[in-house]
Amino acid sequence: MRQRIAVVGGGPAGLAFARVMHRHDRSVTVLERDPAPDARPPGGTLDLHEGLGRLAMDKAGLSAEFEALSRPEGQAMRILDTDGTVLRDWRPDPAERANPEIDRGQLRDLLLGPLDVRWGQGVTKVVPGGRDGVLVHFEDGRQEAFDLVVGADGAWSRTRPAVSPVTPHYTGVTSVETSLDDVDTRHPDLARLVGDGSVAVYGVNRAVVAQRNSGGHVKVHAQFRAPLDWHAHLDLGDAEAVRSRLLTLFDGWTAPVLDLLRHGTGFVHRPLHVLPVSHTWTHVPGVTLLGDAAHLMPPLGAGANLALLEGAELAESLADGSADPDDAVRAFEERMWARAGRWAKITAAGLERLVSPDPAAALAVFDQVQPSR
Ligand SMILES: Cc1cc2nc3c(=O)[nH]c(=O)nc-3n(C[C@H](O)[C@H](O)[C@H](O)COP(=O)(O)OP(=O)(O)OC[C@H]3O[C@@H](n4cnc5c(N)ncnc54)[C@H](O)[C@@H]3O)c2cc1C
Repeated sequence: MRQRIAVVGGGPAGLAFARVMHRHDRSVTVLERDPAPDARPPGGTLDLHEGLGRLAMDKAGLSAEFEALSRPEGQAMRILDTDGTVLRDWRPDPAERANPEIDRGQLRDLLLGPLDVRWGQGVTKVVPGGRDGVLVHFEDGRQEAFDLVVGADGAWSRTRPAVSPVTPHYTGVTSVETSLDDVDTRHPDLARLVGDGSVAVYGVNRAVVAQRNSGGHVKVHAQFRAPLDWHAHLDLGDAEAVRSRLLTLFDGWTAPVLDLLRHGTGFVHRPLHVLPVSHTWTHVPGVTLLGDAAHLMPPLGAGANLALLEGAELAESLADGSADPDDAVRAFEERMWARAGRWAKITAAGLERLVSPDPAAALAVFDQVQPSR
């Protein structure tokens, strides 16, 4: 008899898992809390790395579609200091396709394809060890049993407590995100500043990073070290108040960079949380975790890549059918922990240097990963 498999969460990890299972004619119940695919703005752009996210797209049979949509020119990167001096200006060779960018919404739609997601299914709790299998509890009070529940429900996973008591902790760095639309027509100077890819400016314990998405949309991230309650006397729902606080925080920075904040519409507060660098757990039959639920790390270009590859790899090992499914999950967990642990260390050290008292440390990070810049 085929296993009853559910994945909680329809983000990169959950959709990659379900899509690769689908490619192998294996059905998975995808339980997603959002009521519809477009219920929330999908977020910014992601660069998919060779051997990580790109490999996952290959395993899902989606490489050609990905190539058609992705933006290799989005790998361009310019670094300024706070008075506007250009410190690095790297433009990829047209043939350079190591880390092309794709909008999150486009990636989601690619993965969704033929999948039948159960939208509006918020999970509250996952309880293994029942007579009928693993019990999934829903926000509306219902319960449903499965043989395997894969928790791909992100940073604040409701599946995680079934295997681990650990919860995310604050890194000391907060990011406030804003966006500009139609940048080429409405803000041509800012469009030139951002270029085809990203512009980043590093100051003392502060950074501003702006990234071009498709369709003239730009996402701007203002990052700074601050206590978690930095906004105690600020109404985060009041865009003008947040803008004004950010302009004070970045006071003295070159005008075009401040203009990214002056013209931004809407501000999203994202305190950066992480799980401990080597988060593992004692294997629990019938439940596992993928992606941010397993190894939340700073947003430095690895999280979605790992999430996609893990989803694809777990699906392949289950669909292969040569091993007992529980042994396949155990072996997958060992591989995931080893790889994610390495990336968690790299990204934790990266965040320390990118938002640090010494802006030269940030520049050194880029020089290390991209010596030609
Ligand atoms: C600003 C920012 C920029 C980033 N940039 C990059 C980048 O360039 N490259 C990169 O590789 N990574 C990047 N990351 C990290 C990346 O976004 C995450 O690592 C990735 O989205 C993790 O995927 P996931 O599927 O594990 O979790 P998520 O993307 O968080 O998806 C979880 C899904 O589960 C659903 N869900 C949550 N709770 C429940 C519940 N109780 N019941 C049912 N469904 C639920 C959610 O609605 C969501 O759809 C960035 C992160 C941030 C914040």
